[in-house]
Amino acid sequence: MLIVMSAEATAEQVEAVCAHITRLGFEPRPIPGGQRTAIGIVGNPGALEPGPFVELPGVLRAIPVSSPFKLVSREWQAADTVVRLPNGVAIGGGNVAVIGGPCSVETEAQVMAAAEAVARAGGGALRGGAWKPRTSPYAFQGNGEAALKLLRQAGEAFGLSTVTEAIDHESALQVAQYADVIQIGARNMQNFALLRLVAGLGRPVVLKRGMAATIDEWLLAGEYLLAGGCRDVILCERGIRSFDPRTRNVLDLAAIAVARALTHLPIIADPSHGTGVRDMVIPMGRAAIAAGADGLIVEVHPRPQEALSDAHQQLRPGQFVELMTAVRTIAGAIGRTVQAAG
Ligand code: PEP
Ligand code: MN
Repeated sequence: MLIVMSAEATAEQVEAVCAHITRLGFEPRPIPGGQRTAIGIVGNPGALEPGPFVELPGVLRAIPVSSPFKLVSREWQAADTVVRLPNGVAIGGGNVAVIGGPCSVETEAQVMAAAEAVARAGGGALRGGAWKPRTSPYAFQGNGEAALKLLRQAGEAFGLSTVTEAIDHESALQVAQYADVIQIGARNMQNFALLRLVAGLGRPVVLKRGMAATIDEWLLAGEYLLAGGCRDVILCERGIRSFDPRTRNVLDLAAIAVARALTHLPIIADPSHGTGVRDMVIPMGRAAIAAGADGLIVEVHPRPQEALSDAHQQLRPGQFVELMTAVRTIAGAIGRTVQAAG
């Protein structure tokens, strides 16, 4: 429920409505606007009747929030959320940024070379996995804390903010200590305990869409983060599972347009995991920007053929340059600004 106060409502009337909501056992969230104040209600388990709220002095309207989510919704906040990374790069609200880097941080030389390639080509942030959620328990699982240290070193060397995945409680605490942005992977999108924990760690979060998650489930996972106190959430479409093995997943570009209408949160796309095929990454990255994505997260490796994970989809540095050139052209054509580090 969203309570819209009349333009003439006094501060006392706003306070009285908030106190009434608190007495009902719910939480009032006042949103002061240029013309009038709106008050969101959170913590109510089900739909509320608008009637009794409209009776309160100073209330203009009580709008039942039709969607199952609240804090992530456009009804709650009309203006785009812009997430600003520590290096000054902005994502959302017309600002497009590309996060590039290896699937996993393997060696110092590898991550430094990847970071240099990303920074030189105009990328905005560095990605690199430290804990890898692999399908097989025998596959490379990531270098853990040692990888976090190397990622931070490479980010600092090239002015790139860093993004890396947390897979559980312990890794989340370490990621928050070393990295600028915490990534929640597709497989953990509905790990609600992890979402609750990560929401309180004071870092922006990239929330990947689960490979079989509906758009509403994805937004509700975002709702967990916002309800837990994290404002800087970046949604990431990374492909959903379908029937054709020619691509690993189907990068759902319509989901970007759908989510854009429903939520104020920035939305980026991951054409690397979305396709699983190196030659598909540039065309689908271009398409995602054209579809209105606020950025991309892309795997880049100095020597992809030697990669310990996702060797088939990581871009070579020269291909990343090609992608960035296309991103600048397409973003410019639709009135967006590409954010580079430094
Ligand atoms: C990744 O970005 O490294 C990753 C594992 O992605 P996803 O969770 O989308 O599979
Ligand atoms: Mn990968």
